[in-house]
Amino acid sequence: MVKETIQIFARLKPPSRKHQQGIYSIDEDEKLTPSLEIILPRDLADGFVNNKRESYRFKFQRIFDHDAKQEIIFENIAKPVAESVLAGYNSTIFAYGQTGSGKTFTITGGAERYSDRGIIPRTLSYIFEQLQKDSSKMYTTHISYLEIYNECGYDLLDPRHEASRLEDLPKVTILEDPDQNIHLKNLSLHQATTEEEALNLLFLGDTNRMIAETPMNQASTRSHCIFTVHLSSKEPGSATVRHSKLHLVDLAGSERVAKSGVRGQLLTEAKYINLSLHYLEQVIIALSERNRLHIPYRNSMMTSVLRDSLGGNCMTTMIATLSLEKRNIEESISTCRFAQRVALIKNEAVLNEEIDPRLVIICLQKEIQELKDELAIVTGEQRTEALTEEELLQLEKLMTSFLEDQDPESRLEVGADMRKIHHCFHHLKRLVNDKKTLGKSTGPSETKNQDCQEPLREEEYRKLQDILKQRDNEINILVNMLKKEKKKTQDAGLLSSMDRSEIRSSQGSPFPSGNPQEGQRTSSSLVPAQAQDFGASRYRSSLLHKKTGMRGEMSLGCQEAFEIFKRDHADSVTIDDNKQILKQRFSEAKALGESINEARRKIGHLKDAITQRHMQQVALGISENTAVPGVPDPQEEELRLQLEEEKKRYRTKFTRLKALKVEIEHLQLLMDRAKVKLQKDFEAWWAAEASSLQVHSPAANPLGPVKPFPQTSESQQDRSQLPSNRRDLTGRNTPPTPCPSPVGREQCSPSTRPEVSISERPTSSIPLTGDSQTDSDILAFIRARQSILQRKCKCTHLQLHEARASALLAST
Ligand code: ADP
Ligand code: MG
Repeated sequence: MVKETIQIFARLKPPSRKHQQGIYSIDEDEKLTPSLEIILPRDLADGFVNNKRESYRFKFQRIFDHDAKQEIIFENIAKPVAESVLAGYNSTIFAYGQTGSGKTFTITGGAERYSDRGIIPRTLSYIFEQLQKDSSKMYTTHISYLEIYNECGYDLLDPRHEASRLEDLPKVTILEDPDQNIHLKNLSLHQATTEEEALNLLFLGDTNRMIAETPMNQASTRSHCIFTVHLSSKEPGSATVRHSKLHLVDLAGSERVAKSGVRGQLLTEAKYINLSLHYLEQVIIALSERNRLHIPYRNSMMTSVLRDSLGGNCMTTMIATLSLEKRNIEESISTCRFAQRVALIKNEAVLNEEIDPRLVIICLQKEIQELKDELAIVTGEQRTEALTEEELLQLEKLMTSFLEDQDPESRLEVGADMRKIHHCFHHLKRLVNDKKTLGKSTGPSETKNQDCQEPLREEEYRKLQDILKQRDNEINILVNMLKKEKKKTQDAGLLSSMDRSEIRSSQGSPFPSGNPQEGQRTSSSLVPAQAQDFGASRYRSSLLHKKTGMRGEMSLGCQEAFEIFKRDHADSVTIDDNKQILKQRFSEAKALGESINEARRKIGHLKDAITQRHMQQVALGISENTAVPGVPDPQEEELRLQLEEEKKRYRTKFTRLKALKVEIEHLQLLMDRAKVKLQKDFEAWWAAEASSLQVHSPAANPLGPVKPFPQTSESQQDRSQLPSNRRDLTGRNTPPTPCPSPVGREQCSPSTRPEVSISERPTSSIPLTGDSQTDSDILAFIRARQSILQRKCKCTHLQLHEARASALLAST
């Protein structure tokens, strides 16, 4: 058992403005426990607390200043935790802090760069790496991903997420067994055999979370998320299984309702969050007080789920994320205070071992059978069904060992089953009768036979010896043939595998099929990994296709607007950057793959050369009738050295390729997610544009019927302009602002927009179809066009000015 208080760490987010010095200082001098001093600026200190303290000091296990990289956070916080999980202890890491202080960045990571990977992907990578290294145990890993939003639990890995809204999904509920263990109903567990599979699950959950999010339901800041790795291990041949769980928790923002001034739905959410964080605080206060008998875990879902992590069988670590800026000082102090209380909680982690349930089942089945048999005898109930083959076989074995046993005290235990008892009696009767008849028929002639047996045996012995010799020869010949065949097939296999790898490399696959160093193990473990890669990417792309499926159904206008929106979206730079990096990585991987294949070929050739050289030496020794020389052959030595060098190079390249593979996979997932986000943002913007237009359009007015479009020459001209303007849309240089944010939308609203030719016409002159969806598409399209034209006008004005200025300059 390990007794330990909850470890607390502080992580400071980089300030948004540079000049924020003087608000805090980190004191690392105190060797064991560094402290963070938060200094209140004078203007704030006045109204903040009565005693007008001007600075607050908080102790943490370690404080990570704003320049601490994700790698450092993982090495110092998560790695030791992952190790205790691998050793069989339950562990938890949770991030606590106000919205925007870096909880998600710390736990999951940033969505832009590979180096921004957070604790979850890095821990998964580390765990799977360790599992691969340890061949002394058999491990199984499962993943679950729970979201708690407004006190309801949702399974982020529920496949129905794609089709349903969050509210329609079955809620995850808590069940408690008599031993007060918590079980979560409707939370799915997914087996992950590789790091890639586990990462896919993480990204699937994050994407589902993002999809479910709407402007009215900013779940990411208002929900708690618990990503859990369930690990079980078993030594081969052992009956005990060890279980451990690692919870990685991204809590909801801890800010206060009064300060953020939210209302309506948001207020309800904030109340729930504040309530659940309040209950978390209550649990923590109760735990930090000695002699408290009742701990109010049951008050909220989050505290129930994390019951073990808080004062139970778990090693727990808290990361207080702080955004130490002047306006956040109050929240930062409250986060630090919370952490100080958390640090008082003591947990007792024990190894969770249990007998393999399969063995337990077998024992219980046996016991049930015995009880049934006894019951049948006691109640006199006749069992008529015949004994099974297996039971009969078992009985025969029991009887044989009973009859062979010389111990007069030995007993035949067949259980309280009359059918078995009868069967045994029948069998014994048969044996006794057989013996009797055998005795009668063989009795008098026995002596006669024995006399004439002696010469027969001599001859038979010689014959048998001859046959044995013959068989020996035959076997030797067969073994030689077999050896030759084996060599041939091995050579053929090598050739064909080289061919295959060549084909693969020529097809552009950057990953080699195996590592000669690690022999069969690696090659067999890599091949399915590749298959899985393929499977995973196919799975991902099908998921993405489903998520972004709407594009296929977009109208032409909508698609064009999407193209423009995409180009001007803030994330498009990131996507492009990542694309660029991905391209680089791919070409690097391809080049590496090729040089690895080359190295493999070289290794093969060197091996052949060594064997040949060796054979030559042996042949020379035989022909000159001398034994194989004891001094090593220098040429062979040289070849061996070359082989070692080549193998070393191969290993280095192979390791780099493996790392590249993980990075490529991660980058692809990041890009997929960015694409889904882009699509979502566009849909939101498009819907907002369409609905704001519908308000002004007669098509949306239920009182006035939609008038058919008057075929005036002007309007025809309008329509004929549409395709040419569409060309403008894609061919222009100055992009329109898509206005995804509400503020942006306001700026683009018809009232504030400068009038351009097309907007001078009343909207009713547009050919409305009467189908409000199509109409809103057309209207939104026209609006996008307006915005472009407006930009174009500005641009042309500017160009004109420039041209005039340069003409003036030239003339003077
Ligand atoms: P929270 O989850 O606490 O609401 P986020 O993790 O979403 O906050 O962080 C808000 C923003 O700040 C994100 O854009 C994130 O990339 C950025 N951020 C947070 N912490 C850091 C950090 N340590 N380094 C760089 N950027 C950070
Ligand atoms: Mg967050």
